[in-house]
Parts: sequence; C-alpha cells; structure tokens
Amino acid sequence: MMTAPLKAGEITVPVALGDRAYDIAIGRGLIADLGTRIAALKPGARTVIVTDETVAKYHLSAAEAALAAANVPTATVVVPAGETSKSWDTFETMCEAVIAARIERNDLVIALGGGVVGDLAGFAASVIRRGLDYVQVPTTLLAQVDSSVGGKTAINSRHGKNLVGMFHQPILVIADTALLDTLPARDFRAGYAEVAKFGLLGDAGFFAWLEANWQDVVAGGSAREHAIAIACRGKAGVVARDERETGERALLNLGHTFGHAFEAAAGFSNTLLHGEAVALGIVCAFEFSTRLGLLPGNDAGRVAHHLAAVGLPTHIRDVPGLNVTADRLMDLIAQDKKVKRGKLTFILSRGIGQAFIANEVDPAQVRAFLAETLSR
Ligand code: NAD
Repeated sequence: MMTAPLKAGEITVPVALGDRAYDIAIGRGLIADLGTRIAALKPGARTVIVTDETVAKYHLSAAEAALAAANVPTATVVVPAGETSKSWDTFETMCEAVIAARIERNDLVIALGGGVVGDLAGFAASVIRRGLDYVQVPTTLLAQVDSSVGGKTAINSRHGKNLVGMFHQPILVIADTALLDTLPARDFRAGYAEVAKFGLLGDAGFFAWLEANWQDVVAGGSAREHAIAIACRGKAGVVARDERETGERALLNLGHTFGHAFEAAAGFSNTLLHGEAVALGIVCAFEFSTRLGLLPGNDAGRVAHHLAAVGLPTHIRDVPGLNVTADRLMDLIAQDKKVKRGKLTFILSRGIGQAFIANEVDPAQVRAFLAETLSR
C-alpha cells in the first residue's frame, strides 16, 4: 500500500491483513498531511468528514484546510458528542447526510473523532452503497490505541452496547498525537487504562516502562508517541492473527467483563467512563486471579498502585454515586457474556504480561469475590 512520505519523528505501525492491510501513522502534527496522504491512497476520491460537535470546534478546520490544500473535495457531517450518537436515529441521519453529499462507491469517509465517531462512521461506511472505504483520524487516546485499529464498528441497540455492527477495516489510521492536547484530563486518563492494558496482557517490559514514564505520556512528550505506538503494535499483532475474534483477540477484553458490568451499573453515563470502568475491571481481574491461586506475589497490588497513581479508579468507592451489589453485577455479567453450561469466560492473569482466556469460571467464585471486594 502506498502512502505519502514519512514525517520526521513519525512512527508507522503496519496492520498485516493481506489485501486489506493498512498503516497506522503516529506523530505530532500529522493532520496537516491528511490531504496529501488521501490523495496518494485514493487519487480523485471525494471525501466526507464525519465528526462530533466538540471535535469540530477544535480540529475540523485543520482537517478541512489539509484536504483543501491537496485539492481533495470534502463535505462534513457533524453529530452530537457522546455515546448517545451510537444510536439508530443518529445513524440514519448521518447515512442520509453522507448520501446527500453525493459520496459514491469509490469515495471516502473520514472519521474524525473518538471511539463514538469511529464506530458510527465506520459502520456507516460498511453499509452505505454496499461498502465505502474509510480513514480513521482518532482524536482521543482511547481511539488512538484501541478503537480506531482492528475494524470493529458498531452502534448500540436498546438491548445493549455494540450489538449492531460489522467488521470493516479502515484503509489508513492517522493518529496525530497533538490532537490529544485539547482532550479533557479525565478522558485522557480513561484512554490510559487501555494503554496500560497492552502491557498487562502481554508485555511486562512495556508495563514497567509505563510505571517509569507515565508522567511524560500524560504531559505529551516523546513518551506519548512511544506508548501509543507500542499499544498499536500490540493491537495490530493480535488483529492480524485473529481478525474476527475466534481466539486470541479475546485477550483484549482484559478488564472488560468486570468493567462492562460496572459501566452498565452506572447506566453508561458520565458517572463512569468506559476507560475508567476498564481500570476498575483490570484491578478486579488481577485480584480475582490472585484469589483463585493463579497469580502469585503482589502483581495485583502493583497494577492497582500504578492505575491509582495515574488518577484512575481502582475500587468502587473511588466512583462517587455508583452504588451496586454483587448480585446486580452478577446479573450484568451474565447478560454481557452469556453463561455457557453454567460457566463464565474471563480474561485472567498468571503475572503481569501473562493474560489468558479462562473459559470455565464458576459464577459462585466470581460472586464471592465481588461480595468480598465490595465490602472492603
Ligand atoms: P468519545 O468518542 O465519546 O470521546 C469522548 C469525549 O471527548 C467526547 O465528548 C468527544 O466529543 C470528546 N473529544 C474527542 N476528541 C477530543 C479532542 N481531541 N479534544 C477535546 N475533546 C475531544 O469516547 P471515546 O472514549 O473516544 O470512545 C468510546 C467509544 O469507543 C465507546 O462507544 C466504545 O464502545 C468504543 N470502543 C470501540 C472499540 C472498537 O474496537 N471499535 C474499542 C474500544 C472502545
């Protein structure tokens, strides 16, 4: 695949998916090259930028200017900010606007925003005119290290999150790390939980590096690019080996089974952001692994200590306004992950960097663990 020449300091992470392979370009200021890169990838294509109201305020003009400078025609569709935009209503309005902008089979959708815009625009691209190419320009840390890579797209159903969607890979991801400078600190921290996850699930050296360098990652120094690149490389590797999540890709759900239950208990509201729920869930996964005798030593304590240092919640008491019982969490876990022959699937750990898929977890042990954790 041809892309425009690299910028100094830029890191490129390839996602090796055969004839659907693409690059993740990571670096400060890359949005200025959006037009030249798109013109090189898809000469003659018209584009439509899908973004949300908040991202539009900060970054839309830079994206439009970059496209105009390379003579790439573009239209813009702006949706409201927030998870509620992953709805049938917004999906319909957005699709109609893209079609009204006369975007045709060989044209291109550009998803400029966080995971919400990426999931929504990616799903629309997968079905409009039976499939359009799209480029991800992720603007949150969570989107740069996780949701923009790997091709999972979806909207929410009234029955639950991400229940209507497609696997549809982008043709390019441009992660301009300077776009994160406008991200509220709380959203940045939430994304950090997903960065740490990549160390915790398979790369102990990366986790140790994060323990030493996280302040520079937050401050926006060169450590930020490095952390994003390592996390993307981790995700790209897993996706290339198991695109459709028939095996290894499930490891990326470390912290998510417990986390989704906390998130659902909070009503997917601002009380608990997705990444904050993942931080809580990761700590639970490590503590539960210790309780089951799978994880010797104090790795669980080390994980909780690091996430707390970054400012993430590591115990339910860190989340004001969230009151929940073990029974309620068990109901939510059962809905999320469907019980198979009375057993649950969790991502557990034998050590930092050694996550594994545990298919035969006894719900009674999970319940006892949660009851004990909540009472602490
Ligand atoms: P988000 O897209 O809602 O962004 C969070 C908030 O930050 C929004 O209010 C947004 O307007 C604002 N924002 C975005 N970029 C900004 C910037 N640069 N400056 C200032 N404000 C900015 O949420 P998110 O945390 O990025 O993503 C969460 C979504 O991602 C969830 O819907 C989740 O299901 C999905 N997700 C998808 C995958 C996947 O593989 N597809 C993986 C993980 C999460």
